[in-house]
Amino acid sequence: MQGNVTFDPLAFAEPVLKPEIAEILDLENGEFLDVATFISRRRYDRLVAERVSIRENLADRPRFGCALCATPVYLVASREKRFFFRHCREDGSCPSITRSALGRDEIRALKYEGQRESLAHRTIKERVIRSLASDPSNSEILSEKQWRSTRDPASRRQPDVQALTVFGRVAFEAQLSTTFLDVVAGRRSFYRDEGALLVWVMAGFDPDYRRMTTDDLLFSNNSNILVIDEETTALSEGSGTFYLRSHYRVPELFAGVIRDRWESKIIAFRDLTTSFESQTAWAFDYAGQSEKLFAKEKEEVQRRDNDLRERICAFWMLRNQHTPDPLSHEETWRSLTRELSDCGVTPPTNDRYDRAVTGLMNGVLSAREKRPIGWDFKHLIEVAHRICDGYPEHALAMGFALRLYGCDELIAAQDKSGKWAKRARSIRDGIRQGDQRYLPDQDTLPFLTFAFPEVGANVERFLSSRLARSDL
Ligand SMILES: [Zn+2]
Repeated sequence: MQGNVTFDPLAFAEPVLKPEIAEILDLENGEFLDVATFISRRRYDRLVAERVSIRENLADRPRFGCALCATPVYLVASREKRFFFRHCREDGSCPSITRSALGRDEIRALKYEGQRESLAHRTIKERVIRSLASDPSNSEILSEKQWRSTRDPASRRQPDVQALTVFGRVAFEAQLSTTFLDVVAGRRSFYRDEGALLVWVMAGFDPDYRRMTTDDLLFSNNSNILVIDEETTALSEGSGTFYLRSHYRVPELFAGVIRDRWESKIIAFRDLTTSFESQTAWAFDYAGQSEKLFAKEKEEVQRRDNDLRERICAFWMLRNQHTPDPLSHEETWRSLTRELSDCGVTPPTNDRYDRAVTGLMNGVLSAREKRPIGWDFKHLIEVAHRICDGYPEHALAMGFALRLYGCDELIAAQDKSGKWAKRARSIRDGIRQGDQRYLPDQDTLPFLTFAFPEVGANVERFLSSRLARSDL
């Protein structure tokens, strides 16, 4: 192709195909921008105008820098009217030329260093220093000075700012979008070993536009993000107390599920809760509050379950099984089983409303009350025999209930002929040998476990150990 190409000024601009500088750094706000996207999203005529302004400000107030070396860059058009960025000084030192030989971590480290040079980073660093200096309880405020490990002089870090505060020596780091989790984690352990605190601060925070790198800080700091902005800095300078802003999540329970909403407040630095061990500094105790909510929710669930359990048993005790139940009874039972469903328990069903659980309720309740319930017997031992005759699938539950409710002596006293003792032994052997007749009923098990938790737990334990054995 020869000569200049004319280009439709209203069309979108096109980047060169393989730009040497693939990413640029917005020196104003510290954001990285993909060059191809940056160019192709702009209309040709507007980009040409922007190119002029980028060029004019290059010496005094550069707008963009190379993502890898932070050297200011300007926009150039090829003869084909395709655009790319070029360093303002081309001395061959920029690693972008040999970019392909760099590892991911090296590129990341270069970008991080570059970002530290951005105006955004310098601005927040200055605010941290101004805020610290305004409060006489802080001293020895140092900027970009090495912090040598007291244990291992070869190990060192260079925090943005460090100072002696009410919490001892504290390192302040301004969070940048390239501050990845490994950086966060590495620094955290360094300062923990030093018995010092590392506090991450941001220039601003919008809960709706969080980055992954912000989440790394958020979730490792008890869901609090600390911000030092112009307003808090002015407040610190006006009051002589170091203030900052904390954004934090407030947990709330809705129908057993935790939902968070965001709040923020301005708080004096000395009023933060800090921990060297977890390297945290926060205004609102998110973890503590959620735990409290969960405990409260658990208590409420237990109270609700206990109440329903008592009403189910009370209903059964008052039921007259000799005469047909009035319709109102059936309605009461239906409403109880609806409540059971709401508690997450599948109620067993049968053609007649109570048939599905008659044997189970009569048997276990009789053991609990140590007298026949539901059937017209005189002695508890008759109930035990009845269960084994008519409801062998509940024999195991009945056996556990007799033991758990302390009926052994009573049953022995009522078993004058020794018939029960013999039968119990033979059922035990049958169960051990896998007699299918005595296999506990799975359909009523959730109901049993809800109505009589200890009895149900024993049956469940039996079933799972049997399953484990059959797996072998
Ligand atoms: Zn470069």
